[in-house]
Amino acid sequence: KVELRDVWKKFGNVEVIKGVSIDLDDGEFVVLVGPSGCGKSTLLNLIAGLETLTSGEIRIGDTLVNDVPPKDRNIAMVFQSYALYPTKTVQENITFGMQTRGVDRAVQDKALADVSQLLHIEQLLDRKPGQLSGGQRQRVAMGRALVRNPDVFLFDEPLSNLDAKLRIEMRTEVKKLHLRLGKTIVYVTHDQIEAMTLASRIAVMDNGHVRQFGTPEEIYENPVDLFVAGFMGSPS
Ligand code: ATP
Ligand code: MG
Repeated sequence: KVELRDVWKKFGNVEVIKGVSIDLDDGEFVVLVGPSGCGKSTLLNLIAGLETLTSGEIRIGDTLVNDVPPKDRNIAMVFQSYALYPTKTVQENITFGMQTRGVDRAVQDKALADVSQLLHIEQLLDRKPGQLSGGQRQRVAMGRALVRNPDVFLFDEPLSNLDAKLRIEMRTEVKKLHLRLGKTIVYVTHDQIEAMTLASRIAVMDNGHVRQFGTPEEIYENPVDLFVAGFMGSPS
């Protein structure tokens, strides 16, 4: 469970997040949408602990995490620019985090085997990122997040660098991953179809506010205002 209570974020004296309160149930797939600059990435960064709140509360599970550093928050984040280490192999990219945390070798091997099977990258483990397609690189980046086995995943436009065909393919993979693992996911996208197909609920953001938080059907059929209607109604 992830709870945001009246979350505010200012950069200098500019208010970027203006009193966001939402509750995410365990295993929910929440998609954040909204115009460029409305605060989607900032909200993810606040949940991840990469930015600190100006005021309000964030809980993950039953823990108030306002002062908990990112590595102790039981979350993993996948960004739009999935920076893999170019000189390391796929296998090393995935296991590197576990190595630095001093995870047992046997546990590392098991985690690597599990995620590479799940993501269909077993054949690619000895390659370098430069020898992979965009979709394969994206899978490796997800693998790296998955081996942390957190309760919550945060995705910031993870598929936006891919071409249309790969994006649809990876969208299906993400959906399968969610069904299989049942983790809580917060997922930012500009792609309305992606939002409608992946989300259990969609949060429509505008200018630091969540205008509406509801199922894709509710948002589509009963938009609370013209902004939501216009935003979710028009093609991206
Ligand atoms: P996009 O869809 O373009 O990725 P977004 O919804 O993710 O946009 P944010 O990146 O959260 O938007 O930015 C929200 C606002 O906060 C923007 O006006 C941005 O310029 C501002 N902002 C973000 N990070 C900082 C920062 N570190 N310092 C100052 N202003 C920032
Ligand atoms: Mg963003």
